[in-house]
Amino acid sequence: MSPAPPPAAPVDPARGALRPLGVDQVTISGGFWAERQRVNATATLAHCEAWMERLGWLANFDRVADRSTGGDRPGWSFSDSEVYKLLEALCWEVGRTGDANAETAIKRLTARIARAQDPDGYLNTCYGHGTRPARYSDLETGHELYNVGHLLQAAVARLRTTGSDDLVDVARRAADHVCETFGPHGREAICGHPEIEVGLSEFGRALGEPRYLEQAALFLDRRGHGLLSDIPLGRAYFQDDMPIREADVWRGHAVRALYLTAAAVDVAVDRGDDELLAAVRRQWERSVARRTYLTGGMGSRHQDEGFGEDWELPPDRAYCETCAGVGSVMVSWRLFLATGDARYTDLIERTLYNVVAASPDSAGTAFFYANPLHQRTPATQVGADEVSPRAEAGVRAPWFEVSCCPTNVARTLAGLTAYLATTDDDGLQIHQYATGRITAGLPGGRHIAVRVNTHYPADGTIRVRVTSPEPAEWTLSLRVPAWATGATITDEGRTRPAGPGTVRVRRTFHPGDEIVLELPVRPRFTWPDPRIDAVRGCVAVERGPEVLCVESGDLPDPDRLDALVIDPAAGISEVVRGRFTAGTEHRWPYAQAPATAPDASEWFGVPLLPYHSWARRGPAAMRVWLPVAGS
Ligand SMILES: [Zn+2]
Repeated sequence: MSPAPPPAAPVDPARGALRPLGVDQVTISGGFWAERQRVNATATLAHCEAWMERLGWLANFDRVADRSTGGDRPGWSFSDSEVYKLLEALCWEVGRTGDANAETAIKRLTARIARAQDPDGYLNTCYGHGTRPARYSDLETGHELYNVGHLLQAAVARLRTTGSDDLVDVARRAADHVCETFGPHGREAICGHPEIEVGLSEFGRALGEPRYLEQAALFLDRRGHGLLSDIPLGRAYFQDDMPIREADVWRGHAVRALYLTAAAVDVAVDRGDDELLAAVRRQWERSVARRTYLTGGMGSRHQDEGFGEDWELPPDRAYCETCAGVGSVMVSWRLFLATGDARYTDLIERTLYNVVAASPDSAGTAFFYANPLHQRTPATQVGADEVSPRAEAGVRAPWFEVSCCPTNVARTLAGLTAYLATTDDDGLQIHQYATGRITAGLPGGRHIAVRVNTHYPADGTIRVRVTSPEPAEWTLSLRVPAWATGATITDEGRTRPAGPGTVRVRRTFHPGDEIVLELPVRPRFTWPDPRIDAVRGCVAVERGPEVLCVESGDLPDPDRLDALVIDPAAGISEVVRGRFTAGTEHRWPYAQAPATAPDASEWFGVPLLPYHSWARRGPAAMRVWLPVAGS
């Protein structure tokens, strides 16, 4: 039997508990994610290209080719990577739908990029040409290798959806140049922003080129030995403070930490390096237990866009960069494929709904960069024509001076279908629920096809109907999220409880057979660990995978969100019971006795809305964590 062709997916490890399915094997045809994929395809992709054209980030490639680049080059050193991330998104889109406009855009962008590549494979518009600084003269902040990493991820998407072409050739020459320059006999150095590692490992997998994985492993091993210069934020900022094998927790710049960790999983899995895999799992455990927001957001500090200390999770100062959400999904998906542990896919779901889905507006042309859990005052609207400073919390902006998040959202949504389901030798596993179709081949010539029908997350009923034409024996596995207490599964007329983790049905499935998973998505209260001081005395509300919040416009007095307290004992629906505390003005907000905060208003119903939908009606104050009356 010939081996199955590689899936059209961003990650395809050499081994692991489960195998990914490609964007051509899974389709989402309706509901929450279908709408977001549609908006991404029809609006966001063109929006990103238009902004990069307008700001000269695309012309930077032309100017290198025409030898006219110089001191007036627009954009940061990493603006090339935004073009590559857009290309990756376009490639997944072509793989997903065969979209002709996306295909044209790929060819158009590839032609401009290819012209800018030097004969030795070096490709960068910020360094090494004209009066620009010399190549690799600022590895701490120059992002040269980071840019190449994103180029390689775009090429992976192209290879696995369409096949080899000019983009793949450009990427191969760039990767060869990196290996020659920084290989075992080359310069002993690393990039200040990890990404080349995860790009090299996957590009190596996609091409069957072990040299690229070895180079990724070499970069990983070099990190943590102080090869980068010390900076005021410390070497932990770029994870050069200690070897990755020795770390117990994620620290420093969140996106850097997560991209690096994703590569570490790739290297650990493909080389059978159990020690490295165990180190990453340990870091995930502690970081998720102590340094992650309820939304799945990561990064508590604005100053370095970084992780804080354990329990340092202030809701109003949460940074939770959208890109860190994307990085978290990258890490958890790799760990999940390696181990099959549903806790990783639980975190993916939480992060997709409450970080990734929160970022774009309904039109797909403005984006959250930071994702705080508490907005004290409504932010100032950013005009459709305006470039925002990178992280003004509480407002979606069309573009940013540092515009990493829009293209990261675009590539994640375009490739999202690759994160929904997997196979192993025994059957099909579905991890994220959306209406659509899934097909997979199993050993022995067995062919699986199912149709999923659901209104999830609005409703918790998930129907999986077998559509393969021939009866076959296999196992259907469905993820039951940790929050889904009381879930049930119904098969052949019999209903049984389905505990958190994975529920399995093994039998001979016939065409038309239907399995129904019921996940209780009614609203529920969620209490924080008291060590998260910033939200002590507060409670949050979740509904299914969605974190809910209160927006100021829904209160009887929109200016008094900070005075809102709620009464959990009154129960919960889509509304909680709340009232305003007195909130008398103090000249000094401290006293020699505890404040008594007398009640100043009658109880009223406080409507809740999904966190991902906040500020869609315009700027607002908002909070996820709600103070409990009397505490
Ligand atoms: Zn970002």
